[in-house]
Amino acid sequence: MIGDAYQLEDDDFHVTILCDADQNRDPRTLFTSVLPEALERAAQSENFQIDAVPFSMNILLIQTPQHKVLVDTGLGSGTLLKTLEQIGVRPESIDRVIITHGHGDHIGGIMGENGLNFPNARYTFWKSEWDYWFTEAQKGDETHPARRNLFPIQDRVDFIDTESEILPGVSAVSAPGHTLGQMGLLIEHGVLRLLHIADAAHTHFQVVHPDWSPRFDMQPDVSAKTRKALFERAADQNLLLTAYHFPFPGLGRISRDGENLKWTSV
Ligand SMILES: [Zn+2]
Repeated sequence: MIGDAYQLEDDDFHVTILCDADQNRDPRTLFTSVLPEALERAAQSENFQIDAVPFSMNILLIQTPQHKVLVDTGLGSGTLLKTLEQIGVRPESIDRVIITHGHGDHIGGIMGENGLNFPNARYTFWKSEWDYWFTEAQKGDETHPARRNLFPIQDRVDFIDTESEILPGVSAVSAPGHTLGQMGLLIEHGVLRLLHIADAAHTHFQVVHPDWSPRFDMQPDVSAKTRKALFERAADQNLLLTAYHFPFPGLGRISRDGENLKWTSV
């Protein structure tokens, strides 16, 4: 449910998944290049109504002795700040915000009504992703989410353009296609091994059908390749997988099932 928090931990390394929104969506409106009957069958096989497939927004909070890190900031509805307050995390204590990509449902909570929601944080972006959205922001008006949220942090951004460590235990994973420079994450500490794929997939139906790309993937062919590779990596390396929009907490495992892949939520 919206406002929920789901905790994973290994010693003093904690990953909390925060639910910023829980919506019901009709996948026929998202996957316009997929036959509606195929989508209906996928929904039916899990007892979902076709017009009410759960669609969450799952923000990660990573807490270590040295850092408090947010992965994306949600829509900016105020839910994230309320949830942080409920679990005893002050916005001023967040020292790093990692943005997976520049869509409004991921950057919308950078700015609040009175300025930066996380005033002491530095931000991490994949370089080409920042460049694309910063250019878009320059073309947009004041209401453009990129203009509203990226302009104020331009002096606080650290860029990454290779699959390297951002902070101890948190490494960037290139995940292009949904947007040009989308970034996933590999989070590893002790027994905790978690692959966060951000919006490389939007529903767990895509685990069985990695070739299904939604209409808002900027490069649908690239996103399909990225999606399949990330799913196979999670299966073959036995990684937990999280996705931003899978039903809360968006956490599960992928296994091989003959030629296909299979999703089991945790
Ligand atoms: Zn999204």
